[in-house]
Amino acid sequence: MTNNWETIIGLEVHAQLNTESKIFCGCSTRFGDEPNANTCPVCLGLPGALPVLNRRVIELGARAALALGLHVNDVSIFARKNYFYPDLPKGYQISQYDQPFSANGTLEIMTADRDEAGHAHDWKPMTINITRLHLEEDAGKNVHEGLPDVDRFSYIDLNRAGTPLAEIVTEPDFRSSWQAYDYVNHVRRALQWVGASEADMEKGNLRCEANVSVRRKGDIKFGTKVELKNLNSVRFMQKAIEFEVERHIRTLEEGGHLVQETLLWDERLNETRPMRSKEEAHDYRYFPEPDLPPLVVSSEFVQQVRQAMPELPGPRAKRFSEQFGLSFADASQLTGERSLADYYEAAVEASGGNARGTANWIRSELLRELENAGLTAGKSPVPAAELGALVRMIDEGKISGKQGKEVLSEMFASGKSAAAIVEERGMAQVSDIGEIDRVIDEVIAASPNQLEQYRAGKETLFGFFVGQVMKASKGKANPQVVNERLKEKLKA
Ligand SMILES: [Zn+2]
Repeated sequence: MTNNWETIIGLEVHAQLNTESKIFCGCSTRFGDEPNANTCPVCLGLPGALPVLNRRVIELGARAALALGLHVNDVSIFARKNYFYPDLPKGYQISQYDQPFSANGTLEIMTADRDEAGHAHDWKPMTINITRLHLEEDAGKNVHEGLPDVDRFSYIDLNRAGTPLAEIVTEPDFRSSWQAYDYVNHVRRALQWVGASEADMEKGNLRCEANVSVRRKGDIKFGTKVELKNLNSVRFMQKAIEFEVERHIRTLEEGGHLVQETLLWDERLNETRPMRSKEEAHDYRYFPEPDLPPLVVSSEFVQQVRQAMPELPGPRAKRFSEQFGLSFADASQLTGERSLADYYEAAVEASGGNARGTANWIRSELLRELENAGLTAGKSPVPAAELGALVRMIDEGKISGKQGKEVLSEMFASGKSAAAIVEERGMAQVSDIGEIDRVIDEVIAASPNQLEQYRAGKETLFGFFVGQVMKASKGKANPQVVNERLKEKLKA
């Protein structure tokens, strides 16, 4: 039934640019301050106050655009978007309209199908058309909770008014909620990577809205669309889209009609509900902002921004595969965050160049510890150099891989170095051939029957001898050396 329908999704992402001060005044953008503490005549919209563009906004806007593979326009124009709402004291928002900061780009993302449990499989590239990226100011916030008399009064906090945003709008290119999910994650990682935005949805500095409709396969005309708002995490966005797609298909198959409307996601009820509407088919009457000149961005400026940017995640993953011989999946995982990619490279160096071994230790052991502790690689209690040192000790046969796991988990808990833990626990492996030979001779001398049977062809007894030698050495003998020497000695 679902197979007869095609889903059409377009996305708008608002990312707060990571500046210290607001876009058109010097007020702080700090989060969590006393309400209305960070305000001035400009962001309060007092008559006669004039906006001045914050240069850092242009730099971070350019970083955001370049990180998404977009071109920065030489000239863009700020425009007034007129509407009335209590959190917008000027009666208009300064945004950009027909000449935005950046427009008409394409972005390649990786996207995957999901199984019933939500696990990704079959990652493949997909090209998304980006309609525009423009710069604008945020509005303030109406507060309806947690204050006296909220049943009778609305409160307004204008600390957020004038915070710089980059709005990134796509064409209706997504055909499933998971493609939308993969895209927003891609954008989030890219913006964080270049330091353009903290892009943390829980703090509200990355917000997204989705336009969703369905049509019968083969139809050219779009169906009735709804706009989804209040999507506080990428997962909620995915669920909300899924909910709407199912509702649309069900309604249409039952012969019902859909209404174009704005819906909010209710994360407690797991369903959408109509927004008590301020926005019905607005005419914003955009016009160029008379108090700001056109924004002219020179190609030299863009070039400087580009040169100051770190290597981007896509190229870095590619380099990891080529330089370190990692699979695509491993390289992608290790470039999931910039701090992790930096950690990995530093650890490889400290390990003496064991790129694959280091990747395995990070992927199988360290990431699990970090996840349990709710930390990122940048905050790991085990520094990259120490993880590298551990990999090296294992490679050099000082400790076994199994001991390595124990050591790592204690390093994580105590912050001690690998060398200190190995020393304290008396773990150092015995790799000295003379010492191992002596133990083997003793074991063989003590097991004449087994020796006879082994030499008569019962080769399964080899494991018995290994076990006896390991036991006699209290587990410290290097198993590889034991194997080699035992084979030699049992032959004779
Ligand atoms: Zn201000």
